[in-house]
Amino acid sequence: MNIYIEFCYLAASILFVFGLKGLTHPDSARRGMLLAAAGMTAAIVGTLFNPEIVTREWIWIGLLIGGSIGAVMSIWMPMTAMPERTALSHAFGALAAALVGIAEYANHGAQMGTLKVGALGFEILLGCITFTGSLIAFGKLYGVVKGTPITFKGQNIFNMTLLAVMLGCFVYLVYDASAAAAFYIMMTLAFCFGVLLVIPIGSADMPVVMSLLNSYAGLAAAATGFVLGNNVLIIAGTLDGFSGFILSVLMCRAMNRSMKNVLFGAFGAVSETAVGAVTGTMREVSLEDVATQLAYAKHVVFVPGYGMATAQAQYAVRELANLLEGRGVGVKFGIHPVAGRMPGHMNVLLAEANVPYSLLYEMDQINPDLPQTDVAVVIGANDVVNPDARDNPRSPIAGMPIIEVDRARSVVVLKRGNGKGFSGLDNPLFFKPVTGMLYGDAKSSLTSLTQAVQEV
Ligand code: NAP
Repeated sequence: MNIYIEFCYLAASILFVFGLKGLTHPDSARRGMLLAAAGMTAAIVGTLFNPEIVTREWIWIGLLIGGSIGAVMSIWMPMTAMPERTALSHAFGALAAALVGIAEYANHGAQMGTLKVGALGFEILLGCITFTGSLIAFGKLYGVVKGTPITFKGQNIFNMTLLAVMLGCFVYLVYDASAAAAFYIMMTLAFCFGVLLVIPIGSADMPVVMSLLNSYAGLAAAATGFVLGNNVLIIAGTLDGFSGFILSVLMCRAMNRSMKNVLFGAFGAVSETAVGAVTGTMREVSLEDVATQLAYAKHVVFVPGYGMATAQAQYAVRELANLLEGRGVGVKFGIHPVAGRMPGHMNVLLAEANVPYSLLYEMDQINPDLPQTDVAVVIGANDVVNPDARDNPRSPIAGMPIIEVDRARSVVVLKRGNGKGFSGLDNPLFFKPVTGMLYGDAKSSLTSLTQAVQEV
């Protein structure tokens, strides 16, 4: 029987590695997801061969409930709610790791050797922190917890003291595995620490926090693997742990922020006086004007952002792009690495609408083209095209690389009104003479533009 288990776990590990490889490019992302799902199936099948299982009824019940919730969430949750969905699944994954650890300790804690109790303590720490931290992240993204940083006097000292007590309990537990009080105090403090770690972080930084929590959940799972002697948990947990960490670093780099600034900088609690309020008037343009500009342009660049996702305007923009290409206009899409609310958000939406990958240009590729671009069309993007990041050293997003649409000959911004971006900052782009504002929901604006271009 053991050979079947190890074979399934080996197959699962290989499939996870190829799944991750597939996710490195939009072209192969769908295949990557299917391979990873096949890997998870292999891991579950392998576990069912385990001779230590005394009754399978609870496993079937768990599979049925978990599988149904997963299916319902995948089918009915909109793409725009994907960050919330991810936060919830991290919370449950971490809770599972923590519960396994608690059960192991309750059953065999006192007899554990130093290495095993060390791995178990690590699993409990990361599992509990990730569980409550992810729930708070979910609450902030869903709007049930205040999105701006929640801070109080002496917060850092309080958190550091809590961390020190928690680590003290951990060290004592490694020294004396039978010290149940140290175990349960550490567990309770870890649950509290998860909350305290995430409340001072603004919701704009939640995607980075979540991928960091994802990394903790992965490492907690790897530690569970050590405790249970389960190879697939060690491999999958380590892959998850490190890929989550790398993703957090890449997101920070794309925003030109350090991890320390994201975790302790209380970003989003910014006051307008600190930045300098933007003044001036915004120039509204008519649909007919924009249609004429587009129809007679040589080069057009579309720059999508979070608003394209909320409006579900990806199909409408593809139709307009097809129409323009048919008229001989050169069309490109400029994709900012942190546009939207999760990494690759724009790529996923545009791929869903069958926009060819050859039309998608990364920020560094599109920026040199913008001075020769006749019209840059900003579709519900704000922070990622905010010139303050480049020009105003006092701005909280100073230094964040942007798509420099303001260098194009003409800019048209599609948005509903005067709503700010996720950072809550004003955007001087909207006040520049080169910019025209086309107000309305992005999807209906693009659909109307397509009709208007046909009539030009
Ligand atoms: P954004 O700055 O959040 O701006 C979105 C804009 O879309 C808003 O100004 C809003 O203005 C407009 N909008 C909303 N619904 C719309 C609709 N139905 N039709 C038309 N416009 C609509 O978006 P972004 O430029 O994509 O920037 C992403 C932000 O998220 C950045 O601050 C980034 O750092 C942060 N972030 C992203 C990630 C990631 O992985 N992608 C990770 C961490 C942080 P109106 O309300 O006036 O319409």
